[in-house]
Amino acid sequence: MLKSYIYWINNDVRLLDNEIFDFLSKSGQNIYPVFCFDPRKFQINEYGFKKTGIFRAKFLIESVRDLKLKLKDIGSDLIVKIGKPEDIIFSLARYLKANRVFCQEEITSEEISVEDALYRNLKSLNLELEFFWGKTLFHFDDLPFDDIAGLPDVFTSFRKEVEKKIEVRAEFFTPEKLIYSSDITSDSIPDLTDLGFSKQDAEKCYSQCKFIGGSTFALQRLKEYFWEKDCLKEYKETRNGLLGMDYSSKLSPWLANGSISPRTIYQEVKKYESERVKNSSTYWLIFELIWRDYFQFVASKFGNKIFHSGGIKDQKNHGSVNMELFWKWANGETGIPFIDANMIELKETGFMSNRGRQNVASFFVKDLKLDWRLGAAWFESMLVDYDPCSNYGNWNYVAGIGNDPRENRYFNILTQAKRYDVKGKYVKNWLPALEKIPSKYIHEPYLLSEAEQKYLSFSLGEDYPKPCFNIHNWQARRKPKRK
Ligand SMILES: Cc1cc2nc3c(=O)[nH]c(=O)nc-3n(C[C@H](O)[C@H](O)[C@H](O)COP(=O)(O)OP(=O)(O)OC[C@H]3O[C@@H](n4cnc5c(N)ncnc54)[C@H](O)[C@@H]3O)c2cc1C
Repeated sequence: MLKSYIYWINNDVRLLDNEIFDFLSKSGQNIYPVFCFDPRKFQINEYGFKKTGIFRAKFLIESVRDLKLKLKDIGSDLIVKIGKPEDIIFSLARYLKANRVFCQEEITSEEISVEDALYRNLKSLNLELEFFWGKTLFHFDDLPFDDIAGLPDVFTSFRKEVEKKIEVRAEFFTPEKLIYSSDITSDSIPDLTDLGFSKQDAEKCYSQCKFIGGSTFALQRLKEYFWEKDCLKEYKETRNGLLGMDYSSKLSPWLANGSISPRTIYQEVKKYESERVKNSSTYWLIFELIWRDYFQFVASKFGNKIFHSGGIKDQKNHGSVNMELFWKWANGETGIPFIDANMIELKETGFMSNRGRQNVASFFVKDLKLDWRLGAAWFESMLVDYDPCSNYGNWNYVAGIGNDPRENRYFNILTQAKRYDVKGKYVKNWLPALEKIPSKYIHEPYLLSEAEQKYLSFSLGEDYPKPCFNIHNWQARRKPKRK
């Protein structure tokens, strides 16, 4: 008689380059892949908004649907359940008299606490929860440090070490067949209303979000960005862009929930380098994947510190929790067009460029002097590509309590706006109220005189908000030259 193996799938919703599926397909046993929609992920957080917002919820639903179809293609299925994994997987293990239970090892505390709870429950059945590593480009076990405590606190040192000393492991192929015979009834895959979103918001979300979840679409995007549009060869030059789909790879949402692995992207870069061109841009995409790895390993080294007020440096957090100011920032109503345009893009699509994220986060901490954890929680809710390590690691970095070797780095928002949105095209795209404003004032409409406003039929304070803080304190603020 075949043995019963359960695979609890979490942030690894893919068949390709999935070591657990590879191992299970070779085991010759009966395999039960299970995905749980955990209601705790859709609750309201301490600040009053959903932990997982609508864009990521939609993306997750699509990812699970895609995995289920893919499993059916190889003779298997995905058992979908709504509830806590530690209860569901435990009940299934008991019912099936499972012989082994597997999952991908997670790094951050909420995920680990669920794994721990399941681990304890399974112990009562004399079962172990068995872990595989699958989240990073470089395998955890290959890191060239005695243990994770030896991880360098500066990215460049980490990168140089791993580039010099370790190889990216080979990808695992998609299994051709999995044995599956089950009388377990799967819940149907929930829709957005089942997860607590309104029908109206759900319809809006489907029309506004540019990303479709699932490994099918991840691979499609990879093909489009690398091969069809041939964008990779100039990634280094375009990656600080703000408008459109192709200034950067836009692979982050799929990477975040494991619809695609960083190794698959790496292998495709290598293929592109051998078949098309190898240059600083092709290297730079790998460089960014190493950044991603770094934040995963930093989270592993510092544990819960990345979520704490003082971050990994244990520093004093001077930020306040001023909800009125927070909502101005979150709703794109600060009166600073470059900030507002980015925040509106996030609110309407679930995505924001890396350049945008750096600016709005720095503005939040250094100019509005708000508690960085509130901003990070908003990103957690809104981002389609939210990943705890990347999000909290980057917020630590920008807030000056993380891995930035430069003390007190400050982003001058106006300089950034004028450099990366020279003519204000990006700002006008998201803030139609500023459509008529001439380029020289587009990033500082508050400098328009009464007469100029009248001439433009524009009223600051009515058509667009006045700055929500004292702009005279802005560091190195420069007025545009008047003729
Ligand atoms: C305050 C702040 C919060 C962030 N939160 C997240 C988050 O929750 N999830 C997330 O995936 N990224 C986060 N990032 C990093 C980065 O902004 C996004 O990964 C990137 O914008 C995604 O777009 P892309 O896939 O087109 O990236 P590309 O430029 O094409 O880069 C390729 C991949 O490299 C990785 N990468 C690139 N830059 C970074 C970085 N700074 N840190 C970690 N990984 C990186 C991503 O996986 C990305 O998909 C955050 C950055 C900041 C400043």
